[in-house]
Amino acid sequence: MGTGTAPDIPSAHAVTLKVVRTIAELRAELGPGRRRSSEPSVGLVPTMGAFHEGHLSLMRRARAACDVVVVSLFVNPSQFNDASDLAAYPRDEARDRALAAALGIDYLFVPAPEAIYPPGFATTVVVDGVTAGLETAHRGPEHFRGVATVVAKLLNIVAPDVVYFGQKDAQQAATVKRMVRDLDMPVRVDVCPTVRGADGLALSSRNVLLGAEERERAPALHRALRAVADRLLAGERDPERAVAAGQAELWAAGLVAEYLLVVDPATMVPLQRVDGEALVVVAARLGAVRLIDNLPVMPAPVVAGVH
Ligand code: AMP
Repeated sequence: MGTGTAPDIPSAHAVTLKVVRTIAELRAELGPGRRRSSEPSVGLVPTMGAFHEGHLSLMRRARAACDVVVVSLFVNPSQFNDASDLAAYPRDEARDRALAAALGIDYLFVPAPEAIYPPGFATTVVVDGVTAGLETAHRGPEHFRGVATVVAKLLNIVAPDVVYFGQKDAQQAATVKRMVRDLDMPVRVDVCPTVRGADGLALSSRNVLLGAEERERAPALHRALRAVADRLLAGERDPERAVAAGQAELWAAGLVAEYLLVVDPATMVPLQRVDGEALVVVAARLGAVRLIDNLPVMPAPVVAGVH
């Protein structure tokens, strides 16, 4: 094409135009204008309230790392598959407020359901893959759709630099990580270790709903996880054989697991053979209360030629 047909572009534009081909580069380019480096960092801890030490550990971690900490308290109806579970869910806003204040939290965000789901609300975030089994098999596909949708909304509302989740709900944390990566959400997901009682029972808002006898049996979940993890750490590569040791712990306590499995921690897919990082996951019902727990394990890598 001859020079005579070239469009008349002012030379100043031609000089300043920068072609950006990646999202990361575009954000870096736009960042300084959008967010001054002197702006405070914001941490978000999403919760459903009825705070215990598990929640507080997330808040302390956020408090230590961020200038501004927002804790959301929202019992999200869309993630409950069972109306009686939603109705029975423990709530104590005054106590939660006092606990958050004592930790120096800046904002407790307590929206009404209509504020999150106004009339006409019609959008759902669906994360495939990582949500396929485990909790979905027992709670239905609505559960993680509800979680992903409300977390996406909270991230858009608060625009935090870091969002905090507990390892206790491993599939939820994996789902949020997947959503954040897939949708290029500009936030770091910090997954914090599970806080347990002295008897090994993972702290959960649902623990207060256990009867005395159920509460006594509940630590068997953790013993089962430990038994499976110990087998794997001792060199067992076959998940089924390792899981058998965990089943024995549950049966001894009169419990039957909804699932007790060894999965890939990133994809939540059950492993056929354990050759590296793995996650032992369990769910069981104690009366009307359903509890879940998990234990990450890192067995020593297989040395070639050694069996
Ligand atoms: P929830 O209020 O149950 O939705 O929990 C709010 C956050 O606290 C979630 O990210 C949970 O994974 C986390 N969490 C719940 N229990 C524990 C625990 N025992 N240890 C650490 N984090 C927890």
